[in-house]
Amino acid sequence: MGESTTVSRYLPTRARTTVGAWCFVDRYGPDDVATGPGMQVGPHPHIGLQTVTWLLEGEVVHRDSLGSAQAIRPGQLNLMTAGSGIAHAEVSPPARPPRLHGLQLWVALPATDVPPAFAHHADLPVAEMDPGVSARVLVGELGGARSPAAVHSPLLAAEVHLGGRTMVPLQSDYEHAVLVVDGAVTIEGRDLPVGSCAYLGRRRSNLVVAGAPSGTFLLLGGEPFTQSLVMWWNFVGRTADEIAAARADWESGRRFGDVALGGERVPAPPLPVGRLKPR
Ligand code: MN
Repeated sequence: MGESTTVSRYLPTRARTTVGAWCFVDRYGPDDVATGPGMQVGPHPHIGLQTVTWLLEGEVVHRDSLGSAQAIRPGQLNLMTAGSGIAHAEVSPPARPPRLHGLQLWVALPATDVPPAFAHHADLPVAEMDPGVSARVLVGELGGARSPAAVHSPLLAAEVHLGGRTMVPLQSDYEHAVLVVDGAVTIEGRDLPVGSCAYLGRRRSNLVVAGAPSGTFLLLGGEPFTQSLVMWWNFVGRTADEIAAARADWESGRRFGDVALGGERVPAPPLPVGRLKPR
C-alpha cells in the first residue's frame, strides 16, 4: 500500500471482536494512486477465515496460490476462503483509475478444515427498496435479494444506497452494525458522518434509514459467533498452537503454495512473547 494510505479499523476493537462471524473490518483510502506504486501487498498467508474485498473506488488485482488472477472493481465481490491455508497478493494494476478506496473484511470460519477457494462475483443482486433506495447484497439475503456468495454461517453484508428514507428489514436473531462509506446517513434518527460505524445489537426487525443520494452505508450482520477465536497477523484459529504451526509453515515455504506473479513474499512477524490468548 502507498505510504500515505489512511487505514481505519472498525473490527476488532477493544470493545468488540465480532459482528456475527465478521471478525475484521478495515477501510483504506480514499487515496490518490494516479502516481506512485498504489496498493502493493505481496504474497501473504491466511487460515481459518474468508476475505471479502469490496471497493468503493478504483481497481485491484488479486492473485492467489490456487492460480486465481482477478481484477476487481466497485460493485463486485472477491471472496477468498482461506480454510486450511491459502496465500494471496493484492496490487494496483499499472493502468488504473486515479483513486483507491475500499474495504477489507474477514469472516471467521466455524471450522478450519474447509478447503481453500476463490470466487469473484461481478453481478450481485440488488434489492429495490423505497424510491431512490437500493441495496446490493454481497453476502446473505436482504429484501428478497440473495447473494450467490458461499459462506459458512448465517451472515449478511449489503451496501445500501440512499436517496430518501426507507425501512430496512432485519433478521431479529442476527446482530448488526453499519459503516457509513459515503455521504451522510441517518440511522434510527441518529446522524452518522462518513467513516463512522455503529453497532446495533440484536433483536431488531427493521432499521429506519434516510439520506441524500450520496449516502451509502454497509450493513453487516450475522448470528452471534460464539466460538472463541485466536487472531494473530493474517490467521484466525482456535488455539495458539494452530497459529504457531501456520506461521512456521509460511516461514519454511510449506502448506500455502506460491502466488504466480505475486511479487515479494511478506515475512511473518515474530510471535508475541506471551502466549496468544483466545478472545
Ligand atoms: Mn490478505
